[in-house]
Amino acid sequence: MPIFNDTKVAFADKTDAQLRKAYWMFKMIEQPALTNLGTSVLNFTVHNNFPFVNTIVKNTLFEQFCGGETREESMKAVKQLFKRGVGSIFDYSIEGKEDEETFDAVCQEIKDIVKFSVGNPAIPFIVFKPTAFGRIDLYEAVGNGSELTSSQKEEWERVVKRFDEVCKLCHEHDKKVMVDAEETWMQDAADQLCEEMMEKYNQENPIVWNTIQMYRTGRLEYMEQNLQRAREKNYFIGYKIVRGAYMEKERARAAEKGYADPIQPTKDASDKNYNSGIDFVMNHLDKVSAFFGTHNEISSELVMDKMKANNLENKHPNIYFGQLYGMSDNITFYLSDKGYNAAKYLPYGPVKDVVPYLTRRARENTSVAGQTGRELGLIKKELDRRKK
Ligand SMILES: Cc1cc2nc3c(=O)[nH]c(=O)nc-3n(C[C@H](O)[C@H](O)[C@H](O)COP(=O)(O)OP(=O)(O)OC[C@H]3O[C@@H](n4cnc5c(N)ncnc54)[C@H](O)[C@@H]3O)c2cc1C
Repeated sequence: MPIFNDTKVAFADKTDAQLRKAYWMFKMIEQPALTNLGTSVLNFTVHNNFPFVNTIVKNTLFEQFCGGETREESMKAVKQLFKRGVGSIFDYSIEGKEDEETFDAVCQEIKDIVKFSVGNPAIPFIVFKPTAFGRIDLYEAVGNGSELTSSQKEEWERVVKRFDEVCKLCHEHDKKVMVDAEETWMQDAADQLCEEMMEKYNQENPIVWNTIQMYRTGRLEYMEQNLQRAREKNYFIGYKIVRGAYMEKERARAAEKGYADPIQPTKDASDKNYNSGIDFVMNHLDKVSAFFGTHNEISSELVMDKMKANNLENKHPNIYFGQLYGMSDNITFYLSDKGYNAAKYLPYGPVKDVVPYLTRRARENTSVAGQTGRELGLIKKELDRRKK
């Protein structure tokens, strides 16, 4: 019996008109041809300042998947979520820009989020992407042990400084900070940096949280080794546990460059590995905390079952669940309704800057098997229920 199908709870905040609009939007997203065509047209028109496109996007995709154009504007969504017991995680990223000025500006924005959220339990985590603070090629060079030029060394020092400034500020204000995971070829350097930050700031409790992608091979082994180092150096570990978002890119690069595919061979293998990740967390709760970032109902239910089997209270301080704003409300609100720690990633920013994020959401919703169909089915079920 599926437990996440109470649409009355899932959509309690939505008016009929909002639901009909969301239905229409997911229906559009469901068409791959339209989504593909739409993404190119959107990226072009928004970047070339077609004001009416901006307005259309703002009233459709943006409204569904983003909090607002600014932090202040997003507070409406934050408050609405918190009223239902759901935390918000401000997600600020300007994708695809790789210059020092942008890295500094994003770092400043993240620090401003920390200050903005101090003392506000509605914003339990801060998040950033490693490549928002430095070039991906530099992470790769550091990770594979290449000899750096003196200018690259200085550049890397600036990346470390940005990490450190954010983590230090979070430590000072007792705010948890999650570092997103990205492509495998930059992840070794990011892992290394996260571990350094954990060693520095996680002595009393987990402030810095790294992300583990279970669609990768070798990640359980990494967690075991990280745990051993954490025990030796006496710090706590925080992990966001996800499946992983870059599968096609990873497989294509591995094939092109002729190295072993770093991704699990099948969806089933990724799912099994994710379950092993859940077990790893449950077996080491003395040291490890986890945020399960997933839209998968089976995984979410499995975490709940394991918590119960281990006699853990629903609001256990080591365990969080998270979904993206505008998706899988049936999971999020079920969890918060039952008292679990639940949160949403809440992207925000000027419409033109979040268009890459929005088009990715649209494409992912089409490619992740069943996601759009699931959202549509739930919305339809709720509209039908309200008609009765
Ligand atoms: C709050 C939150 C934070 C996130 N943060 C990150 C992050 O920092 N880094 C990141 O990379 N992703 C992140 N993601 C995205 C996440 O990794 C998944 O891409 C997305 O959530 C879909 O996976 P799922 O567990 O929700 O559900 P499902 O729909 O059950 O799983 C889909 C996923 O399974 C895997 N998969 C699908 N087909 C195959 C196959 N043939 N072989 C092997 N594996 C396969 C892929 O990872 C795919 O994305 C985040 C997601 C959420 C909700």
